Amino acid sequence: MNILLKNATIVTQNADRDIIEGDILIQENRIQSLGPNLPNPGVEELDLTGFTVIPGLIQTHVHLCQTLFRNLADDLELLDWLSRHIWPMEMAHTEASLRVSAQLGLFEILRSGVTSILDMGNGRHMDVVFEEMVRSGIRGFSGKVMMDYGDQPYKETTREALESTESLIKRWHGAGNGRIHYALAPRFVLSCSEALWEGINDLAHRYTLLIHSHASENRKEVALVKQQTGWDNVEFFIRKGLASPKLCLAHCVWVSEQELEYLREYRINVLHCPSANLKLGSGFAPIPRMLHKGINVSLGSDGAPCNNNLDIFIDMRLASLIHKPRFGVTSITAQDVFDMVTINGARTLGLSDHLGSIEPGKLADLTVLDLNKVQVVPADNIYSQIVYSAQTQNVVHVIVDGNWVVKDGLPLAYNKDEIVDRAWNECSALLKRIS
Ligand SMILES: [Zn+2]
Repeated sequence: MNILLKNATIVTQNADRDIIEGDILIQENRIQSLGPNLPNPGVEELDLTGFTVIPGLIQTHVHLCQTLFRNLADDLELLDWLSRHIWPMEMAHTEASLRVSAQLGLFEILRSGVTSILDMGNGRHMDVVFEEMVRSGIRGFSGKVMMDYGDQPYKETTREALESTESLIKRWHGAGNGRIHYALAPRFVLSCSEALWEGINDLAHRYTLLIHSHASENRKEVALVKQQTGWDNVEFFIRKGLASPKLCLAHCVWVSEQELEYLREYRINVLHCPSANLKLGSGFAPIPRMLHKGINVSLGSDGAPCNNNLDIFIDMRLASLIHKPRFGVTSITAQDVFDMVTINGARTLGLSDHLGSIEPGKLADLTVLDLNKVQVVPADNIYSQIVYSAQTQNVVHVIVDGNWVVKDGLPLAYNKDEIVDRAWNECSALLKRIS
């Protein structure tokens, strides 16, 4: 799409964190230029006087396959929550139930101004999730969750896990005009065998892929990892040769001093999920210490059954608040949190040359906010407005890859009423299948 956005307040997130009043010219899927009074080269024009344009927000840990389980698995700790509810429900997905789960999640995520996600997928029927990511217009990384180990009936063989993963990589990596990326998704250390980790390492190198996993979320999990492997989580990834800037670890709540050093040294990405950490009673990740050390921290909502929303504004607000009592009021600022959902998120995805800020040459992933609403005025700091005050209702338009995906607050790919109806029906059928 070629379009000139006129007269906006532009929060660039460039190296100088410039905020400018002016215009943005989009040509095809890239930002061509920005600045005051840009001449119109004969393209469509939209006047955004009074509106704010920010880089499209980036969510680096979600589970689209779990959106259908919202409000179905509450008030449990991680390992019981997984084994009693999440694994049985993921296994019970049909193509139809998984499709509406992804649609419901994508609708909510796009509506909240998010343009890129890192998703951990389901064990089966994953073509459906990739199809919906393409259809929705979002930019996204996903991969089928891999589990071949442990005392649980939901695992597959190592060979099945690796072969089905490789065939998905071949079908989907680079799809949707390059918007879709495959990310390897071993669930966590406890669910994967030695042979599977070796196979994952091989695939990661052969296809140059992100590895997306969970680590050190819960104290019992940390103790079991130590018992099973002799190592802490982060050390485990190092010993297996998996530690690099392509490794993305959700949570990292219970990490030792040594592990913090490893996260910094190996430039491993931490995916912070404050709602999930609170709801599952897991604990408080030492995020201000990580930021102080220069560890790259980005933000995610995790799954709907451990949040129970996928609204990045809720997680921005929580991330900015929950660490202050322990580390001090100045330990994490609104700017720090806004960085997590923009440039840090882009770094996590390995796309910081293309995403995370509004600069000429970058991909045209943009979110338009109305910050002139009752609950967000007045202010003398726009980052405070966005992180502490704003909500999803302040998101007006969203552009991904130069295309409108949300217009006037409504995601364009889906009919809301149809999705809601199908979600109720598919949820009730799924519950019958596992009862
Ligand atoms: Zn998760």
